[in-house]
Amino acid sequence: MRILITGGAGFLGSHLCEFMLEQGHEVICMDNLVTGSLENIKGLFGKEKFLFTNQDVTNYIHISGKLDAVLHFASPASPVDYLKIPIPTLKVGSLGTHKTLGLAKEKKAIFMLASTSEVYGDPLINPQNESYWGNVNPVGPRGVYDEAKRFAEAMTSAYYRFHKVSVRIVRIFNTYGPRMRINDGRAVPNFVTQAINNKPITVYGKGSQTRSLCYVDDLVRGIYKLLLSRHTSPVNIGNPEELSLLELAGTIKELTLSKSKIVYRPLPVDDPQVRCPNIELAKKTLKWEPQVSLKEGLLKTIPYFRDALKKRSA
Ligand code: UDP
Repeated sequence: MRILITGGAGFLGSHLCEFMLEQGHEVICMDNLVTGSLENIKGLFGKEKFLFTNQDVTNYIHISGKLDAVLHFASPASPVDYLKIPIPTLKVGSLGTHKTLGLAKEKKAIFMLASTSEVYGDPLINPQNESYWGNVNPVGPRGVYDEAKRFAEAMTSAYYRFHKVSVRIVRIFNTYGPRMRINDGRAVPNFVTQAINNKPITVYGKGSQTRSLCYVDDLVRGIYKLLLSRHTSPVNIGNPEELSLLELAGTIKELTLSKSKIVYRPLPVDDPQVRCPNIELAKKTLKWEPQVSLKEGLLKTIPYFRDALKKRSA
């Protein structure tokens, strides 16, 4: 396949580019480097089937030649990022989804939308299955991301129904692994870098809120299975191993042999109290489930952050 991956220089995007090349596909990686980085894809330059283009997907996109799949993964994804750049976040989810869908339609390509567990907002049911409509505050600070992704799902579904574009919608739950930005503000990069430096670990609220963390390789495998399937409605991909943020802080402290103290900071506005994917649909239709436990995944991730911190201080 010849595949366009928007946001290809980001955390997930770069892992996807690498995986698709390993499967023998040709990859066009598009990124405007707002939250992505060339460092993430430096190992891919020079590969015959890899092309990078610096472009903002909210503008008209022209790609010459055929395309078999368009994977729309461009978007800030950390709450700290989308609070800093709310309007580009809304635009990439809305205008960017429209442009990439138009491109997929023109090229008769499969379109995949990177959606999110944030479409469930602060959920009133736990775990969340795909038929749950969610509990999102449209005018709160997180609304810029949540509503852009909800709009993106609506637009993707309309292109499926009206234009017969073959679509896939993956609802991605919290994912971690190498190449997350050390300062992206999310729990895993914050806790790991704080723990490595023996600095206080900042738990927001009481730390009783839960998340379920999926290792990036598991996620990428799930995404590929979904792409190759014929499933056109949303599918949750995530690891249902749910834990509280306080437990996560403790686990990271233990694995890094850190002397850090835990300190408590205010809970951000509209921070979801619980989050856990119901993955029965992915298990049944994609024969997919995660294989990497939290401890294994963190042990693969911590060395990356140690290196990144060394590079930063060098
Ligand atoms: N969090 C925290 N300390 C931090 C960063 C995040 O306690 O230094 C909490 C945050 O309030 C949320 C959870 O960790 O409850 C996960 O936050 P993250 O930003 O990783 O992603 P989210 O799931 O909220 O999109």
